Amino acid sequence: MRAEVLVVGGSLSGASLAASLARAGVDVLVLEKARFPREKICGEFLSHEALPLLDRLGVLDGLRARGAERISGFRVARAGGTPAAGRLPFEVLSVSRALLDTALAEAAEKAGARFVFGSPVTGLEGSLAEGFRVTTPKSAFEARVVVGAWGRYSPLDGRLGRAFYATPAPLFGFKKHLRGASAHLKDTVALHVFAGGYLGLSRIEPAEGEKEPRVNLGALATPEVATRAHHNLDELLDDLVARSPALARDLEGLQREPGPPLVSEPVHLGARDASERDVLFVGDAAGVLDPWTGTGMAHALLSGEAAAEPVTAFLAGRPGDLPAEHGRAQRRLAGSRFFWSRAFRPFLMGRAARFVVPAAAPLATLAARLTRPSAS
Ligand SMILES: Cc1cc2nc3c(=O)[nH]c(=O)nc-3n(C[C@H](O)[C@H](O)[C@H](O)COP(=O)(O)OP(=O)(O)OC[C@H]3O[C@@H](n4cnc5c(N)ncnc54)[C@H](O)[C@@H]3O)c2cc1C
Repeated sequence: MRAEVLVVGGSLSGASLAASLARAGVDVLVLEKARFPREKICGEFLSHEALPLLDRLGVLDGLRARGAERISGFRVARAGGTPAAGRLPFEVLSVSRALLDTALAEAAEKAGARFVFGSPVTGLEGSLAEGFRVTTPKSAFEARVVVGAWGRYSPLDGRLGRAFYATPAPLFGFKKHLRGASAHLKDTVALHVFAGGYLGLSRIEPAEGEKEPRVNLGALATPEVATRAHHNLDELLDDLVARSPALARDLEGLQREPGPPLVSEPVHLGARDASERDVLFVGDAAGVLDPWTGTGMAHALLSGEAAAEPVTAFLAGRPGDLPAEHGRAQRRLAGSRFFWSRAFRPFLMGRAARFVVPAAAPLATLAARLTRPSAS
């Protein structure tokens, strides 16, 4: 099979790029290893700057109609401390990745992109000068341009020799959905900081055929936290609840969905090169923002859209160096987000965490502004 552009990964950044390219008349093929709908580790807190893009793709009204939750307030608490609360300087949506990712892939397909689900890419070779050959266990594909939208960590990063892949994983993520009475979390995201990590709680849309919203619990922690809990994340959650009355209050009346929590691949935070050996990257593959910012999903969506212009210009034969043009577009979009996402990290996962409670509300408001594009 051939395509002008082959995108590896059909989640947020991949679907957003595919939709933008297809709308510009480009022949685009997306290979996605999973079959949608599927859950994905995430805080599911979708920042406001992505909403106009979702509207342009025709999915925003559908997400709201399915019950995506509106959030405009926050609470921050340190284990054992009193929570601080405030208003976010913008309004966000809270929606499951199963619903969001499926809606985006459908929108990209409607725009003309081809998707092949259940297709894990295992091989990738070639160049922009000679064209690429991409393989899955079942098939081989040819393309002029290949874009990696495979997220924060993939064996393909190792094949391309990307430096972070060879270093030990500093962090991992996990997630659990909960059901039950959640009125106390209405309109609010609750962030709970503990030794070696933090977790976020927010309401998301009801499960298919149900009326009551569910609650998503998404967490980021060091591997030592998992070791202390003997790699039993249910035990870890029990331990965190026992240490934090504020967390116990937020989880009151909620039951965890059956089954073990979803656990992520290694999480390496920070900016990365936007291309390697002529393969372009978008979304998390091009750089991972700290999840506390709640901007990773919005950034991934906008990163996919921003890649469409240089790729379309290259295909139209306009002179220019595609990896360099793509890198410039991605850096313009990122602005100072990566810097600020790192600068505030010690308040959540370092010694400065003890200052979280007294200064939480003004700090969180400032941090939220600085990690969004209007501030860059
Ligand atoms: C614990 C945690 C909490 C977070 N909370 C939030 C939050 O509340 N708000 C927020 O905005 N962001 C949050 N994020 C960040 C957010 O999840 C990411 O920024 C976002 O998912 C990036 O989107 P993406 O499309 O680039 O990659 P991904 O969403 O990771 O998608 C990559 C896709 O590529 C596919 N894929 C991978 N390898 C292959 C392959 N070889 N072949 C084919 N397909 C492949 C995968 O199946 C997947 O569908 C959080 C992250 C973590 C770790």
